[in-house]
Amino acid sequence: MRTLPIPDEIPVAGRWRRGRGTPLECIDPANGDVIAKLTAASPADVDEAARAGATAAAAPSWRDLLPHERARFLVRIGDLIDRHADELAELQTRNTGKTRAETRALASSAAGTFQFYAAALETTETPLSPQRGPYLTMSVPEPIGVVGAITPWNSPIASDAQKIAPALAAGNAVLLKPAEATPLVSLALARLTVEAGLPPALLSVLPGKGSVVGDAIVRHPAVGKVSFTGGTNTGRAVGHLAADKFMPLTSELGGKSPTIVFDDADLDQAAAGILFGIFSSSGQSCIAGSRIFVPEPVYGEFVERLVAGAQRLRVGPGTDPASQVGPLVTFAHRDRVAAMVDRAREEGANVLCGGRIPDAPELTGGAYYLPTLLDGLSNDARTCQEEIFGPVGVVLPYRDEDELIAQANDTIYGLACGIWTRDYRRAWRVARRIDAGTVWINTYKQFSIATPFSGMKASGVGTDKGRDAILRYTRQKSLYWGLDEAPLPWAR
Ligand code: NAD
Repeated sequence: MRTLPIPDEIPVAGRWRRGRGTPLECIDPANGDVIAKLTAASPADVDEAARAGATAAAAPSWRDLLPHERARFLVRIGDLIDRHADELAELQTRNTGKTRAETRALASSAAGTFQFYAAALETTETPLSPQRGPYLTMSVPEPIGVVGAITPWNSPIASDAQKIAPALAAGNAVLLKPAEATPLVSLALARLTVEAGLPPALLSVLPGKGSVVGDAIVRHPAVGKVSFTGGTNTGRAVGHLAADKFMPLTSELGGKSPTIVFDDADLDQAAAGILFGIFSSSGQSCIAGSRIFVPEPVYGEFVERLVAGAQRLRVGPGTDPASQVGPLVTFAHRDRVAAMVDRAREEGANVLCGGRIPDAPELTGGAYYLPTLLDGLSNDARTCQEEIFGPVGVVLPYRDEDELIAQANDTIYGLACGIWTRDYRRAWRVARRIDAGTVWINTYKQFSIATPFSGMKASGVGTDKGRDAILRYTRQKSLYWGLDEAPLPWAR
């Protein structure tokens, strides 16, 4: 396996060069090693990238490409990601701590995303509207020009691809701002777009601090849309800036998702799915099923199963194929998670398992935290209301369906929900009453690029994924074609 080079340069405005921002350090959270010292972007780099992006997007050699011609770039990028999937996975595992199985799946998903949008682009139609007079009308989507893509650290290559692929398909240039802790895989992806022959300046990758580089992207006058994935508070700040510019914004934000067991469920299947939903990616997942609702009659028995399962999970470095729960992304984040569990104790939580940093000697050098289950809290406790973004689930008992729905929806978030039952009528009824952009029934955390993804309430505005995502990177223009030979009557 060839290792992708860790660049000392970043692609800005069509040229790989050193950024002018404050340099960044990338750490391997499994052991604290510094794996790269990176040059970062500055606001002046953002300005240069945005101007060059606007020129590149307007160049006839890109703007006038027919859909099937533009699709070829996406196919080539997807193929190159596939070919380099192992190296991309390795880089992401070292930079994020995620297990290789997860990062390999993310690399495949990124390749599939480019291939999907190539196909979607080739089959997107521009229909004529039904005729209402002596004229034909149609609405044509046009590229926005330059779009900003701002991504978080938890699944960098997949989040990057979900924004870059439809934005390029729509004919735009993209300024990608990866999270400060995890820019390596985004830079490797940019190298592959060069190899695929994508015209330079159509993709600038601008690592750096969100409040400096991300902010400069959102404010830049040439940037006509931002697609943001990250925390709810950051999303709110970005939303205010976007509103000031009358700029469309897609925001995919945080969650505190309920996952619900009914007493008729296959309890083995439900326990396995719930453990996967909260502890895979070490809980660093926007859609983590972090509030686990269990009916009173089976509460004791089901909680025992969950605890036994959580204690069996193998915690270890993402590079070890046996590991299921890797380290958290940084030591600072691990300490935040630990502090939130301490606060849960102060709120009166019962720690059913975990609740601490592991003391096994082989893990003490990494940013690990044990899979943790809590109970003894009511849904209005801060622990049940605030996103922890770590391997921490809270189990809550419920009596009946109405009480359950009220509690499940009693959160500012509305991202995801899991339902475990054999009763399909109940699954349908409950799924329709839950405020969530995605509901999984007898499964969890499965994804298809063909299916739209969005949040309700404070989990975000707008939709990613699905074939219509291309249209969300366009501006609509309506054309009227007169059919009358005679002049319009009024001026005759
Ligand atoms: P974050 O909000 O701190 O950062 C996200 C991105 O925004 C980073 O690239 C960051 O540098 C940038 N940023 C920070 N401040 C900015 C500003 N003022 N202006 C512009 N950009 C700025 O989030 P994070 O800690 O990287 O990621 C974790 C969060 O992301 C969690 O809340 C999680 O739920 C959420 N998330 C949501 C989804 C989803 O699809 N709904 C997916 C993954 C993660």
